[in-house]
This record gives sequence, structure tokens and C-alpha cells, in this order.
Amino acid sequence: MKQRGILVLLACLLIFPSVCRAHWLDHQELPEWARRGYCQWGHGANINGRIHWTENGYGVDLPNIHLIRYCGRNLMQTITYLDEEARRVGESAGVRRQPYICSKTIWWRNEFPKAPQLERCTILKPDGTRVLLYNNPERYGGCYSSPIWLDYVKQRVDSLLAKPGGEVHSIFFDNCMNYDCHCAECHARFKEYTREKFGREMALSPSDKSPDYLFARRMFDADEAVRFFQEIRRHLNTRHREGILISPNIGIGYGWSSYLVNRGATDLVFIEEGFTFPPFESTVLKYKLGLAASHGKTVGQLLGLPQGLRRQRALALDEKHEMGILEAFVYPEEHKLALAEAMATNGTNCVSFALREQKITANDAPYQVQNREAIHQYSAFHQRHLPLFDRAQPAARVAVVHAVVTELGRYNTRTALQQATRALERAGVPYEVLVEEDLEPEQLRHYRLLILPEVYCLNRERCQALEEWLKRGGALVQLGSLAQADELGRAYPAGRLPLVGHLAEADPAEIGAGRVWLPSRSLDEMPARTFLAELQRLAGPLERAETRSPRLFCNLLRSRDGKSLTAHLVNSDFSYTLPPTGDIQDDDGLPEARTFLSTPAARIRKVLRVPEPAKARDLYLKFVSATCGVATDAFSLVVTFNGQEIATIPGSWLNDGPGEGIPVPPGLIREENEVVFRVTGRPNSHPDWVAFHVDTNATSRRSWWSGDGGKSWTQEDLSPDPGTQQGEVMVRLGPRDDPERVATPEEFEGRLRVNPARDIDLYLNAGARPPVAVFRTPEGVERRITPRVRGGMAIYRVPEVPIYGLLILNGA
Ligand SMILES: [Zn+2]
Repeated sequence: MKQRGILVLLACLLIFPSVCRAHWLDHQELPEWARRGYCQWGHGANINGRIHWTENGYGVDLPNIHLIRYCGRNLMQTITYLDEEARRVGESAGVRRQPYICSKTIWWRNEFPKAPQLERCTILKPDGTRVLLYNNPERYGGCYSSPIWLDYVKQRVDSLLAKPGGEVHSIFFDNCMNYDCHCAECHARFKEYTREKFGREMALSPSDKSPDYLFARRMFDADEAVRFFQEIRRHLNTRHREGILISPNIGIGYGWSSYLVNRGATDLVFIEEGFTFPPFESTVLKYKLGLAASHGKTVGQLLGLPQGLRRQRALALDEKHEMGILEAFVYPEEHKLALAEAMATNGTNCVSFALREQKITANDAPYQVQNREAIHQYSAFHQRHLPLFDRAQPAARVAVVHAVVTELGRYNTRTALQQATRALERAGVPYEVLVEEDLEPEQLRHYRLLILPEVYCLNRERCQALEEWLKRGGALVQLGSLAQADELGRAYPAGRLPLVGHLAEADPAEIGAGRVWLPSRSLDEMPARTFLAELQRLAGPLERAETRSPRLFCNLLRSRDGKSLTAHLVNSDFSYTLPPTGDIQDDDGLPEARTFLSTPAARIRKVLRVPEPAKARDLYLKFVSATCGVATDAFSLVVTFNGQEIATIPGSWLNDGPGEGIPVPPGLIREENEVVFRVTGRPNSHPDWVAFHVDTNATSRRSWWSGDGGKSWTQEDLSPDPGTQQGEVMVRLGPRDDPERVATPEEFEGRLRVNPARDIDLYLNAGARPPVAVFRTPEGVERRITPRVRGGMAIYRVPEVPIYGLLILNGA
């Protein structure tokens, strides 16, 4: 019976490929519990604020499992039950367990003697020497192309499943990243791969700089990783049991990660964003990218506070714990916002019970209680409205295309993509993200306006679909290049370019009833009103949220049964007042942006005023910086104070954060003091760079940036990051900071103000007779909202959204 089902499914796949590639699918190949909108992810556990680590994950006792349930989690990463009762309660409540395996590391000192075959499957450099993972001399990496490594990871799976700690429903595979491997297996397979896929045998050679080679090389690496994880999945399902899901730590948004997600290397899309937390940075785009690339699988993000903030809020330090921080203060409103962004996009926030800054505990300190109450409140709201979230469908009629293959094989499309999505968010226009294979007639039918950022590689079939859609009245915004090569990166011959590859030559272009716009300047620099006006000129009236509040995000979903349209409103306008520090400073302690030093030519300059230099004693220079966490001594940070070098700090030291500051020799202090930061040695884009935080609200104009070794300086854009960053680099003078100092919750309590978004006009296509809507917030607001109708659109006026609000239109 089962066999036959598979045959029928295969037949469907062959005959109707587009049906099976539709945008957000139900994914009936996965167990029911894994479905998007239902699955609520969590991470780890603690007991009395301390990690109880077992050989099979973070230990969970009875109070813990009650807490996990209270916080609405039903899939728990890396936990293990400590006793039968905890296990009984967890499993009978439907909590799924997802233990951990590293998919890459060989701790060679320990593992080589036990498994000598591993010496033949390590990732090799072109010269045949071994690659060190994270530059750690103890860690080699296993090559995904090697059958020896595949067998070994299968053994890791077998031994994991034999361990105690509860039933396994899914496995998390960590360290799933790409290394440019030159082992014998990779050499042989690459030849075969290029012969089959590109019709031309290529040799693995770092000296080959041709675009074809680089494209093939990246695609090969990614396809090998996909094959590796599919083999692991097959092993799980044949050797163990069906329905154990895999979830490699792939992430999303980069070529490698989006391609792997898109090609089925994961069942549950996991995104680790250890330095991201709203309101400091929005998380909505990553959910959207994950949902698009996976066509609607569960997408979860594990978040952490930005580095400087995390240290500032540290409540307890522990050298052995992650980055030395055992626990940090997080506001309940911040947790609510993180959950709101996930709900609004149909993703899931991996609430952490183990990470330093968000250690949700069963303990009873007031800040601990308020956090779990906040998470409970938002999770319970989600649970009450489950039919609206359970396998919801996207409902926006504007989409931005994430060019997965272009991003993988050719170059960065992210900058343009982020510009587009930021501009849409500022203009209040709900949007969805599509990937290349969504550019087919059945999907395109749903969209009025498409933004295509750097979609360089697009096959003829998709170009054709795009062209047809345009001719029938579609509106297209082209950012950068479009359709210059096929999906294997091979440039279309001159004279045989698809029509949509020509749009740049005729602006403003019209094709049939369709319209095209190629903005002549960066969308980051365009006022929201201008951008919206341009879009509406192109596509007619658009669904949108209009408000004077500065940080409102709006998303549209439709319930799976199609009966309800939901508008999700998320307000992230938070303001903080921080305790006074005694420092000489221009910033308010809260970074909104960063700048970074990753080349020897980059410079940051800051001027600090000391009112009475003669009286200045024991001043320390302090700066709020961050690294990727694994920066090495390949570079050093050099600090010059009034023309004199006062410190040279090795890259690895910067991983621990700023420390106590740098003592400034008293004779150097003047009324106006110039500080210059630069890096020496061999800095690079990963992992050897250092970022400085920027307070974009500060207006004292005492920060400069130089990209040419200090020949010229600018205040108009302090950072190589996309967009323009102005304000103040967070550099200060003040008394020595005690590196052991920790904060108390009382220093932060009452210092966050949420500025609710007010008087929001939601313009929706809700039919000729738009229904009265219901508006609800997790905090208990409930009201009916009667729309006005103007120009064919229904306008719903929502008086106030504190953090999250849900507008439900039944029958729209
Ligand atoms: Zn290899």
C-alpha cells in the first residue's frame, strides 16, 4: 500500500513539477507535529539558573518540563530527561525532543586513535594539509563528500539513538558549513559532477579563476552537502524509524545556506542568530527567507543580544560558560517582541532556556517571573488562535525575489534584497519572499508587484513566465542586473538574451500591460513616501499600513482553509534610558548600527572633549566592539591617542569584549583628543575583523570614517555596511571599568518604554463588502473594527498596537 503511494507521488512529481514546487506547501512527507505554525521551538534548559549538562544534552527535570510547557514549546533542542517522571510528562504532553550531533568536527587527538580511518576523510587545503575548524588546532573537519565521513556520522547517529534521555524525534546537526576541500574524493567527484551537470569536465584547481569554475565549485560543494544530509536522513529512516527529522544548522540568506534549505537538506529550518534580538535588529526577513527557500517548512530562529549589550546586562559571569556570561537581563517586552515577529511571519522563535541572556528559569526572582509570564502570554495567544497560524498561507500581493542560485554561484544579492525589504517595511507595505522556482505562472498569478534584486541567473522558462506575467499587467522593480545567465551561471549569448534581460535598456519600460521601474538611486536613500508613490504609480493602490509611528511592521497571512485574512501588526518602537556611567561620552549606550575594520586601510576616528585636562586623572579609553566570536591573532587592533600609539591588541583578545579599557598616559590628555583605530597584520572578512558599535541617534558629530588609510575622512557614512550609518562610534573616556562587575536587574527595571504605534490605517483588499474585523492583542485588548471604503479598498483604523496586534477578517 505504502509502496504504491510513493509511486503515485513520484508520477505526480514527474508530470506536474510546478504543482509540487508551489510556494508554501503542507509538507505531508513530514510528521504532523512538524508543521509550520504549530511547531513551537525551544532550546536547552537550566536548573536553578545553572546548566546541567549530560552526555545527551541539557538535563530536564520535572519543574523544567512544566516550565517548557508553560512557555508553549513543543519541540526542544538539545534536551534530555533526567528522570522517568519528567519524561512521562514531557512525552505525554507532546513535547518533541531534538538532541545534538556535530556534523563536521573531528577532535583528532581523541578520535584518530579510536577510528584511524578518519585520517583519510579530513578536509584538505590545495597543498594537501589539513584545515583547522575555527582555527582550533584540536579540530579537523570531516569532508561531506567522503564515504568514510558519512559512515562515521551515521555511527554518531546510531550511538546517539542508543543513549538514554527520552525518545528522539529530530536531530540537530551543528557546524554545517562549507570549507573549500581538496581531498582525493572531492577531486574525483568534481570531475564527474561537472561532466554530468555542466557538460564539461573541470578539475579542482584554486588557480582556475574563470566564472564557470567558481560557479561550478560552489554548486558542487552545496550539492555534496545536500547529498550528505539526504544520506543521513535515509539512514535514520531505514536503520531506525521513519519520521525522525533532521535539522542541520544551516541558517538562511547566504548562498550556501539558502541553497541547502531550498534543495531539501533540512526538515526544520534552523537559524542561529546569536547577536540579533529585536528591537536592536529585526528578525522578520530571516523567517521570510526560510519559509520561501523551504516552501513552508517550520522556520526557527535562536536569538541572542548584541555583544556589547549582553555584557552590559550581565547578571552573572562564569568563565566556563558561553563568552563568559552565565545570565543576562532581558526585558519581558523584548521577549514579547521576538515572539511577535515570529508569529507575524508564521515562523517560530526558539526560546532559549539555556543561553546566557535569555535563561528562562523556574526560579522566582521578579525579572525571571516576568519573563516567563511574558512568554506564556504570547504563546497562549498563539495557541488560542492556532487555526489561523496552522499552515497559514502568505497573503501579500507584493514579493521580493531571493535569487538563491545567483547568491550561491556568483555574487552578493543580499545588499539589494535588504534594501528592498527595508524600503517596503518603511513604507508599510506587506510583502512576501519568493525564490526562483516560484517564478511560474500559477504562483505569479497571486502577485501584483515583484521586486527583483540582482537576479542575475534565471533560466529561460522562468524568464518566459515573468515576461507573460508582465504582459498581463504585472509591475516589476529591477534592482541591479536581471536574467543575464541561466541557472548554471552560463551567460546568455549576445542577441539571445531573454526579453526580461533587456529591461535596463528602456526605462521606463512597458511590456504589454506591464510596467517596469529601475530606481536610479539606492532605496535606502529614498523617503518612504516617494518609494510608496513610485510603487503605486507602477502597480496601482497597494495594501499597506499607514501610521505616523516610526517602527511598525505589517504582515498578511491567510488561514489554511482560506476563510480568514489576518493582518499582523508589530510595533518595535522601544526607547531606553540607561543608568549614568560617569564616562565622557556622546552615545546613549545603545547601538543601532556598526562599523568595522577588516582591511588595513580602514580607519575610525573619534574626538573626545575633556573639559579640564589638567585635572584629568586615571582616564581609560573604552570602546564598544564585537567580533564574530572566533577572531584570531592574524590581525591586531592599533589604538592611537593624540598621535601616540597607546595599545596594540591581538585579535583573539577582542573576542572577550572591551574589558576594563586602555589606560591613557596623563600627559597625553588635552581638551580635544583625537583617537584613531586601525588594524594591522592580515585582517579579512572572516573571521579576522572587529566591529565598533554606532549610536545613530547621537548628533555631536565627533566620529569619522576613512577607507583609504586616513587620506580622506567622512561623517556622512561611518560604515561599509549597506545603507548610510551616521551618528557616533561608541568610544569613551572614563574611570576604569571593573571587568568582574555585573549588573543587577534593578539597574534596568523601568528603563524601557514601549511607545505604542497609534492611529494605524490598514488599507486592505477585502472585497466589495468588507467585513467588520476583530482586533486582538495578547495583553487582552479586543475590539471590533468597521472599515471605511475608499477607492475600492477597505480601510481599518486600529487605534493602538503596543507590541503585537492581530486583525482578523473572516470571509474577506
Ligand atoms: Zn573533500
